[in-house]
Amino acid sequence: MSKDLRSEFVKKAVESIKANKAMPTELSRPLAPKPKIFSDRLNVALKHSVENLADELCAFERKFVNNNAELLWMNDFNDVFECLKRLKNEVKTKEIDLLDSINNPLFKELGIKSFIEDKKIHISPKAPLQLMKADMMISETGQILLVDKDFDYIEKLHNSKTNIFITTVDRIVSSLNYAEEYSRYVRMSSASESIPQMRFTLFGSSLNCKTYLLVVDNQRSELLKQKVQRQALTCVSCGRCEIVCPVDQLIGKKPYDNVFTGPIARVMLPYLEDDYVYGHVVYACTLCGRCEDVCPVSLPLRDMILATRQDFFEHGKMDAERKQAYLKHRKYVKDRKRLNRSGWLKQKILSRNLSRELRERIYQPKFADKTFNQTQGS
Ligand code: SF4
Ligand code: SF4
Repeated sequence: MSKDLRSEFVKKAVESIKANKAMPTELSRPLAPKPKIFSDRLNVALKHSVENLADELCAFERKFVNNNAELLWMNDFNDVFECLKRLKNEVKTKEIDLLDSINNPLFKELGIKSFIEDKKIHISPKAPLQLMKADMMISETGQILLVDKDFDYIEKLHNSKTNIFITTVDRIVSSLNYAEEYSRYVRMSSASESIPQMRFTLFGSSLNCKTYLLVVDNQRSELLKQKVQRQALTCVSCGRCEIVCPVDQLIGKKPYDNVFTGPIARVMLPYLEDDYVYGHVVYACTLCGRCEDVCPVSLPLRDMILATRQDFFEHGKMDAERKQAYLKHRKYVKDRKRLNRSGWLKQKILSRNLSRELRERIYQPKFADKTFNQTQGS
């Protein structure tokens, strides 16, 4: 992303903050309690899959590629577009049947909507080509888990000429038990209001139709390289952390301009996207810990955010201008005498430590007249 887009991003975040005067103290709607019974087992299972991702994926592929099924590895959305174009031409159709909402996060991430519009493809329930996302791969059986689909989709899948499923490399568990647990988990812990309508189905290949599974990396291998970010891949995208996060309640989704939002996005986005543009999202956190309290897979989000900040700072991911400002400020606040100066003076000095551009685009906290230390008389 260009520098202009970055400024646009920051502007939107600042506008969102200005539009909301106070930090929200209550949740917009109550959340179901965190389903603790399953969380530890699922957490271990997901961690195991991520740590042994290559082996799990190979085991899955060996089982999946039977009958009429093909597994295709995709680097990014460009590969997905090329593949969809080829399959569409092979089936000789300009129609496609979407068995998932065009607005689901994976389709959004891969830009499926723009592909359909650019290629002038009609969405039709009678199309010979079915496209849907696969929620989880199961390496033990070579099946895929499908969540929350219409009643008639199984019949459609068996009767269609070609089925195309899409998923990402990290959506894999080793056994059927864990897949079942994951289903139960999503049902219990999802922030979605349509929980009672959710259905879960296992699907393998079918003799009657050609089945393709597109497994997309889309930068996730970058996350695998870092210990903390690897953990982020065990997130089940339930959205609970985002609902309780005071910062996200304040700024909303808009400033992210991305399908990943909320606390987990702070850890992932700087590695998935341009770190110059998204580097600062990791600082949009008060370390209050609300997100950890509700995370069903017990991700230590505060530690992850802190470790990401450290990585940015130590490995030069933070832009030089911001790094200079932080170094100056750190030196200042480490000196008790200086810290005890009056609020307006500290405000002025903080402002002076920031470049003109930084002053415009970052939120500067207001210093109280007296420090906690002064009010306690020590
Ligand atoms: S710790 Fe940070 S990310 Fe988590 S809820 Fe609090 S402000 Fe949000
Ligand atoms: S980090 Fe935890 S709470 Fe947040 S979306 Fe992922 S699984 Fe849900």
